[in-house]
Amino acid sequence: MFTTKQNNGDYIGWSAPYGYLKSEENNNRLVIDPETAPIARQIFEWKAEGIGMMGIARKLNDMGIPSPRQRNIAMGRYKNAPTDGQFWTDATIAWIIKSPAYAGHMTQRKFTRSSVNGKQIQLSKDDWVVVRNTHEPIISDELWEKVQTVTKQYANNFGVNRRARRSDKGINILKGILFCPYCNKAMQHSVNTKYNYRNYHCVMRRANPNCSTERIKEAVMLDLVFAVVQKEIIKAVDTQKLLAKVSGSKKHLDRLINLQQSIRSANMSIKRNAALKSRLFDTFADELITEEEFRQMKDKYIAEAERLQTELADFEREHERLSTVFTKDNKRIASFVKFKNQKALTGDMVSELIEKIIMHSADTVEIIWRYADEYNAVCDMAKAGGQ
Ligand SMILES: [Zn+2]
Repeated sequence: MFTTKQNNGDYIGWSAPYGYLKSEENNNRLVIDPETAPIARQIFEWKAEGIGMMGIARKLNDMGIPSPRQRNIAMGRYKNAPTDGQFWTDATIAWIIKSPAYAGHMTQRKFTRSSVNGKQIQLSKDDWVVVRNTHEPIISDELWEKVQTVTKQYANNFGVNRRARRSDKGINILKGILFCPYCNKAMQHSVNTKYNYRNYHCVMRRANPNCSTERIKEAVMLDLVFAVVQKEIIKAVDTQKLLAKVSGSKKHLDRLINLQQSIRSANMSIKRNAALKSRLFDTFADELITEEEFRQMKDKYIAEAERLQTELADFEREHERLSTVFTKDNKRIASFVKFKNQKALTGDMVSELIEKIIMHSADTVEIIWRYADEYNAVCDMAKAGGQ
């Protein structure tokens, strides 16, 4: 039933590798991008000279060369442009130098093709094949091979140790939450059990010349965040008291009663209007009104029904808002208050309360709360309602 498709060197990726463009005549063919190909070549030459990945990234950032992602954004290749990836990183460089595409060869997965409907079915991951000389190379085979050798030597010398050092990290409760403001990237948690340190640092620091985020001790950072959270908890406790007061006030209860009455009378008007409309046809059938009058009155009842429905929905929404916001059980406020007896920052507190932390300096952090809009609105309303 299945036949193996011949490897034809078609490029099927989403966008061309950095240094190349997809051919305008054939979307599956790569052509050299005259703007970025020299930079791709330079990356290989630097690597062959023994410069590290991070060093190369730093050079490119210093020179103001747009990163591959920035280039894709500039070329309009995203529907929604991502906000990260504005800088070259060691990972970007690593990705480029291991790709045989730069020597003119295509890496491809083997595919099988159903002989019935022509659909391609992917085989296992091990089935990568290199199809040689599918497009114009940016560098020679010799340079490509040399760079692979240099990279392998480096990995043998340093890679193993680095991986071992990284293994026992323990828990990082700010994982994916603590950000460097200069690089807009989550900060790395580094742990060294031998010298007994636990730090946060920006991995982009060495690559981004504009980054001045200092390395900071985990304990210092957690205390800093906890101090801000504690302040917010105290505010939430006050807000909860205010909400309890407002929700028990005569003014608030009167507003709720008025709204309930409005909802009842809107419902009654809707029923009455519907009854009048259904009686209208009888009136017309008994020839008490003309066809013209019938049409006009029917339109009037329909318009009135719509108006009443909108009015009812407004009353209901306002009632819902007032009764869920102005209660001491307000969800957003309660989520803070429940941590009021905690003595230190915990993973639960972070995951329940915090969306993002931006480290502006060693003693200033900005915290973006989860459900921030809703939370701030409640605090404002409580203040306004309490006056
Ligand atoms: Zn940074």
